[in-house]
Amino acid sequence: MPIRLLSEDIAARIAAGEVVERPASVVKELVENSLDAGATRVEVETRAGGQGLIRVRDDGAGIPAAEVALAFRRHATSKLASAADLEHIGTLGFRGEALASIASVSRVTCATRHVDEETGTRLRLEGGQVVSHAPIGRPPGTELRIEDLFYNVPARRKFLRAERTERRHIDAFLTRYAIAYPEIAFRVAHDGREALASSGQGVADEVLVAVYGMDLGGSLLPIPAELTAGQEIQVRGFVGPTTAHRADRGYITLFINGRWVQDLRVTYAIIQAYHTLLPTKRFPVAFVEVTMPAPEVDVNVHPAKTEVRFRDGDAVFRAVQRAVRATVVEQAPAAASWSPSEAPHPAPPDTSAPPDTSTRARLAALQPAPQIAPSATQTRFSPADQGASPAMSAPARSPEPPRAPRGPDAPATSLPPLRVIGQASTMFIIAEGPDSIYLIDQHAAHERILYERMMAAWVEGNVPSQPLLEPVTVTLPPDDAARLEDHLPTLHALGLDVEAFGPGTFLVRALPAPLTAADPTALLADIAASTADHSPVRSEMEEQIVRRICKRVAIKAGQVLTIEEMQRLVQDLERARNPRTCPHGRPTILQLSAEDLARQFGRG
Ligand code: ADP
Ligand code: MG
Repeated sequence: MPIRLLSEDIAARIAAGEVVERPASVVKELVENSLDAGATRVEVETRAGGQGLIRVRDDGAGIPAAEVALAFRRHATSKLASAADLEHIGTLGFRGEALASIASVSRVTCATRHVDEETGTRLRLEGGQVVSHAPIGRPPGTELRIEDLFYNVPARRKFLRAERTERRHIDAFLTRYAIAYPEIAFRVAHDGREALASSGQGVADEVLVAVYGMDLGGSLLPIPAELTAGQEIQVRGFVGPTTAHRADRGYITLFINGRWVQDLRVTYAIIQAYHTLLPTKRFPVAFVEVTMPAPEVDVNVHPAKTEVRFRDGDAVFRAVQRAVRATVVEQAPAAASWSPSEAPHPAPPDTSAPPDTSTRARLAALQPAPQIAPSATQTRFSPADQGASPAMSAPARSPEPPRAPRGPDAPATSLPPLRVIGQASTMFIIAEGPDSIYLIDQHAAHERILYERMMAAWVEGNVPSQPLLEPVTVTLPPDDAARLEDHLPTLHALGLDVEAFGPGTFLVRALPAPLTAADPTALLADIAASTADHSPVRSEMEEQIVRRICKRVAIKAGQVLTIEEMQRLVQDLERARNPRTCPHGRPTILQLSAEDLARQFGRG
């Protein structure tokens, strides 16, 4: 076929795929528009998990009659006037893509009236084509009805999940916005059943309780405004007490400048803030809102606008980690395993009973009692569900009901002190503990140790870099070279100083300090390969590269180790946060309990 320009219709449907992933992405775009329009009430109704109908109604400014049809054209927006505006985006939308994308894959009815106009407008579109356009009488504000989503994109329809799943995605998004925007009254109903109603009275606490239930929602601690008052980066929100830990990161929510985003590194800052306060492999509950000057953060990274880039990521990391840590430590019970030497804040926790600032206590003090729809507390959302689109979903989430019964602690994962006995098959270290014999996979164990060291250095923003005596030239096949070139800044952040040096050729000037023994050629080839199936989230990419580097550099099977080397390895493993698995999730260590062994010898 000769090269042709795609028709506008096909181009729109292709572009729509990036914005409109599933019903929840439609809800997201429409609700964001309502918020941008200054709404104080937002009502969302769906039928059949959003495939039948999505209706979003607001009392915002409305669209002027002369502009309604234009709003559905691609790249039509009232939110950006010039390229310079991209530097300081103060609205949730700015790309002018959502309405056009949604309209191209559904049947849309838009009824709207601008506050300054006498009459409203009703516009209908099918597959992006206007089918009717007429004046109507209606109050100011906007109502969008999206029917038969993806009716003309059978491929996409096939990928939709059960209605229940799609509803959960919608709820996961809306509950977070209801918490972040307590001054806006949200009402959500699915198939005629109310799922959430917030009063809009500006009290986030009541929404927290409606969403998480009294047990969890009521125990959350507000991050005091004073902690970051007057600073460029302000951190607010709510964090769980040390007793409210969860099995995954699904209960960590992050808003940046009023926008729900996914950011692995800031999420890690929150997890780090609980360091030594939670059992290993458990994650905190947190709802963290960061506000900073718009030019400090770039939201124009992905069409779904769920990723951001910070001008100074380290500063954001530090601000979040400190504010969360201070809030938690202030409220932590004296018995928490808090070690002053490891905490970023030198002040030890106050051992006298702290004043109860939990949501529950503040709610009790509120007069009059907040209005929460009874149904909202019954039909509780599970915020651990995935986000509205794959780009929004955090890694490794497993659904977990907010009030699942569980034991007080996760099983202990730390290792007892071990005595090294020797090496077997040049692959395993045999060691002895209090009442077990242990077999340690030398490669997997070393991978784990290196990985934790590098990740810790990376989140702190200072992977020590060791210059090579002589820069090493590495030549890679064109594909690998092209991919590697895209990731040079990432490598730099990881202490790998690599410079493009002619076609397919790179100059390696420095390696991360713990890895200077690595063979630069093999290392770069490995990294290039690992970026092939690359994740869209940049921080995940970095983690993936770290894993790859550690794999390459770790002691191999077949390597003979001295007793001293084995002892050092085992000691380092004892100190690891997650000593029992390698970064890829395989076990590092097998435990043969003396009791089991005795039984097998017929002694039990
Ligand atoms: P964007 O939000 O990026 O500007 P959209 O395609 O989502 O792009 O919307 C296009 C334009 O339509 C917006 O810039 C705004 O002017 C108008 N609009 C959309 N939804 C609403 C609404 N609920 N209330 C008022 N204006 C709206
Ligand atoms: Mg928009």
